[in-house]
Amino acid sequence: MSTTVKAYGTESPEIPLHELTISRRELQAHDIEMEILYCGICHSDLHQVHADFGPYPAPIVPGHEILGRITAVGDHVKNFKIGDLAGIGCIVDSCDHCEYCNDGIEQFCEEGVTFSFNSEDKVSGGHTFGGFSKSYVCNERYVLKMPAFENLAAAAPLLCAGITVYSPLKHWGAGPGKKVGILGIGGLGHMAIKIAKAMGAEVIVFTTSPDKVSDAKRLGADEAVLSSDQDAMAAYVNKLHFIIDTVSAKHDVNVYLNLLRHDGTVVLVGLPPQPLEIGAFNVVMGRKSFAGSNIGGIAETQEMLDFCFEHNIVADSEIINIQDINTAFDRLERGDVKYRFVIDMASL
Ligand SMILES: [Zn+2]
Ligand SMILES: [Zn+2]
Repeated sequence: MSTTVKAYGTESPEIPLHELTISRRELQAHDIEMEILYCGICHSDLHQVHADFGPYPAPIVPGHEILGRITAVGDHVKNFKIGDLAGIGCIVDSCDHCEYCNDGIEQFCEEGVTFSFNSEDKVSGGHTFGGFSKSYVCNERYVLKMPAFENLAAAAPLLCAGITVYSPLKHWGAGPGKKVGILGIGGLGHMAIKIAKAMGAEVIVFTTSPDKVSDAKRLGADEAVLSSDQDAMAAYVNKLHFIIDTVSAKHDVNVYLNLLRHDGTVVLVGLPPQPLEIGAFNVVMGRKSFAGSNIGGIAETQEMLDFCFEHNIVADSEIINIQDINTAFDRLERGDVKYRFVIDMASL
């Protein structure tokens, strides 16, 4: 029997988020039920609610940085018991038999992954509802074991922002002896600074905001450069091994391709709405690459959580009540948050 739970969502982009009820599917043999304690707010929640990626089935309940405590387990659940801390990120289902699923890179599943909200639920029909709610039901294969972070609320954003930067940092070999550039200091950029530093890389941050220069250093960056400062930028030409580009607005990536050493890569994790232009000489000379990366698989997300726990890394978070969600969305749209909102779900 499905259960009815309280949630926050909306029926269309014109209507502010408000309280509503949704139903969670009946617990399957491999499912866990989780009471949600905290849910981070990611820019893609905002994009989806605004229908920036296309229309959606109503109602939409966002939230994919979901942290809570297990309250029920199906008959065949092996890895969780009632009372365990657990996390659910972007992925809640996949085919579980393709090459990619077998390799632990479910984000590339040949049959397509089920996202934690606004995706077709292949088990119960209908569409998935996210973490702006009191509980979640999900196959344990896609559930993360949550280490006992001292600041549990601030660990929720690791489930999307954390893995989104950890995965490319690891893939492109951030570590001792590597100079890593980070473009933009927001939800993603501030996590990238902390994680790249903990991996042992030298971290140079590039920002358009003078007031974020000192913040970058506080977050652990070795250097912070104002991208409008031509002399400071010139000092890094051909110096960086790779750059994580977190900017979601139109910008000139050629400036940053020029900062790469030979064989270097600019990795885009932001989502600018317009196509970006690349000058041929900026990649041909020096055999440089422009690449992209999106979240990570379940095993790598677990590895990232354990890494962040070991290195005492959480997001700089502002905790809000669910009733303040529309104000938080407005502020997020203006970039007015340092650096992640997290909803205390006890307020619902
Ligand atoms: Zn996200
Ligand atoms: Zn698959």
